[in-house]
Amino acid sequence: MMECCSNLDSESSSSSSFAQSITPSITPSITPSITSPAQSYEEPLLWDYPSSEGSGVDLEPLRGLETRAGLRTGLTERQNIGLPSLKEPQVLRHFVRLSTHNFSIDHGFFPLGSCTMKHNPRVNEKMARLNGFANIHPLQPTSTIQGALAVMAELQRWLGELTGLQHVCLTPAAGAHGELAGLMTIRRAHELNGQHQRHIVLCPDSAHGTNPATATLCGYQIRTIPTLENGCVTLDNFRAALTQTDPLGRDVAAMMVTNPNTCGLFEREIARCADELHRAGGYFYCDGANFNALVGRVRPADFGVDVMHINLHKTFSTPHGGGGPGSGPICVGDALAPFLPTPRVVKDGEGWRLESHGDRSENCGRMKGFHGHFGMFVRALCYMLSHGRDGLASVSRDAVLSANYLLSALKNEFNAPFGDRLCMHECVLSDKLQKQGNPHPITTIDIAKSLIENGIHPMTIYFPLVVAGAMLIEPTETESKATLDQFIAVMKRIAQQAQSEQAAQLCSNPQTAFRTRIDEVGAARRPKLRHRLSD
Ligand SMILES: *Cc1c(COP(=O)(O)O)cnc(C)c1O
Repeated sequence: MMECCSNLDSESSSSSSFAQSITPSITPSITPSITSPAQSYEEPLLWDYPSSEGSGVDLEPLRGLETRAGLRTGLTERQNIGLPSLKEPQVLRHFVRLSTHNFSIDHGFFPLGSCTMKHNPRVNEKMARLNGFANIHPLQPTSTIQGALAVMAELQRWLGELTGLQHVCLTPAAGAHGELAGLMTIRRAHELNGQHQRHIVLCPDSAHGTNPATATLCGYQIRTIPTLENGCVTLDNFRAALTQTDPLGRDVAAMMVTNPNTCGLFEREIARCADELHRAGGYFYCDGANFNALVGRVRPADFGVDVMHINLHKTFSTPHGGGGPGSGPICVGDALAPFLPTPRVVKDGEGWRLESHGDRSENCGRMKGFHGHFGMFVRALCYMLSHGRDGLASVSRDAVLSANYLLSALKNEFNAPFGDRLCMHECVLSDKLQKQGNPHPITTIDIAKSLIENGIHPMTIYFPLVVAGAMLIEPTETESKATLDQFIAVMKRIAQQAQSEQAAQLCSNPQTAFRTRIDEVGAARRPKLRHRLSD
C-alpha cells in the first residue's frame, strides 16, 4: 500500500500532462445551440457529447505497474460500461443548463390546483439544515436524539390540535401513503371488531384518483357517490350509496371524501352524512390534501372525521414537485388510536421515545423502515411556529380570498360551473365558451399551453373529472395581488384571442419554449426508458 502511494506521488508530480489534464476546459467540445429566448441552451445528453477530450482528472497510466495484481485503476472497466468521458466544467454546465429548463415555485406563478404550490420559507430550510437535525441517524440511541424526538412530538401535538384528531402517526411518506396508512388503520379496526363483511368504500365521483386506488389496494370495493348536479355529496346521494346492498349499510367499511372537495367547494352536508355513516358502523376517512382552505379555522373532527392524512408538503409549505420528498402524517380520534401504525413518539419519563411494536398489539404495522421524512417534520413545525395559531388562520383566509378573487375576475370570460357560490382555496373553470360554437374550437389544453407561452405554469387540467375540460386553479395565499392581476390579464387575453381571427395560433402554443407541442400520448404509451449507448 505504502509503495503504491509513493509511486503514485512520484508518477503524478513528474508528469506534465497530468497538470494539463486538470486545467478547466473553457470551450465545451460541442457548442449547445442557442435558442430563443437569449441565453437558453438546447442541451444534449452527456452521452451525446463527443467524449474524446478525456475526463476532468486523468492520471497517466502507471507505467510498469499495470500488470501487478490488485493495482488496476478500473479505467478499462469504466470504458466498458460506456460512461461519458468529459471534463468537470462540461458536466457542471450541463446540469446548470438543465436546471434552467425547469419551472419551479421559485421561478414563477404555479397555480396547480389541488397541489397547494405555496412559497417554501427559507427559514424552514435553515432549521432543517442545523447540524443536530441534518446529521443524525435513525439507529442512534434514543438518549442522543431527544431534541429530534421532541420536534416530532411537538408536530404531533400541533397536527392533533389543528385537526381535532389527537393521535398522530408521522411516518407516511406522502399523501397517498397516508391514505394507505389510514385505510389500513380502519381495516384493522374492523378486523379486530369482527366486522369482516365490511368490504365497500364509498367515494364521490369527484375524488382524487389516489382515493379509489388506495381503497382497491387495501382490498376494498369502491362504490361511487354521484355528485353531478352541484359538485357536492348530498345526504340523499350518500344515503342511496350507503344502503345500496344492505338497508343498514353493514357492508360499508368507510367513506373517503376530501373537504373542501376537488371542485373547491365546502361539503355542506358532510357532517350529517358522517352521522349516518357512524350509525351504520363505518368510518369517515377525510383526504386532507385540501386542508389549506381550513387550517386554523375548522377542525375536521368537528364535521365527523375519524381519520385524515395531512400533506405537509402542501398545507405546511415543505417543498414538493418532481416526485418528492413529501410527508403524509395521519391523525385519528380516540376510537381508532389503538390501530394506528407504529411508531409514534411517546412520553418516556422526562423525555421521549419511539413506540415499539409491542406497545400496542392492535396496531396495523409499520409504514416505513424508519420513522418518516424527518427533514419535512422540522420544516413543517418551523412553518407552524413562525405563523402561530392566528397566523395559520390567516393562511387559510387569504388562500380562500385569492381563489375567489380569480374566480370573480374570470367567470365572465370562462365558463365557471360553480361560479354562483363562493369557492374555497381553489376554483374550477372550463373551456365551454371557447370550445362550443367557435369556428376555431379552443380547448383546455390550448389554454394551458398558452399560459406556458406567457411564462406561467398551467393550472391542473381535465381534473376534476366531473367537469368537462376542467381547469382547476389554486393561487395560494403567498401570491401578491400584482401576480394574480397579471394572471387574470393573461387569461383574459387568451379568452379574447380565442374569439378572434388569430384563434388558431393558440393551438400551436407554446412557440418559444424549449419544447413546443409534444406528442404527450406517445410519450405516455411508448416511453423511451433507455438511451442507446452505441449505434
Ligand atoms: C395531492 C393529493 C393527494 C395525494 O398526495 P401525494 O402527496 O401527492 O401522494 C391526494 N388527494 C388529493 C385531493 C390531492 O390533492
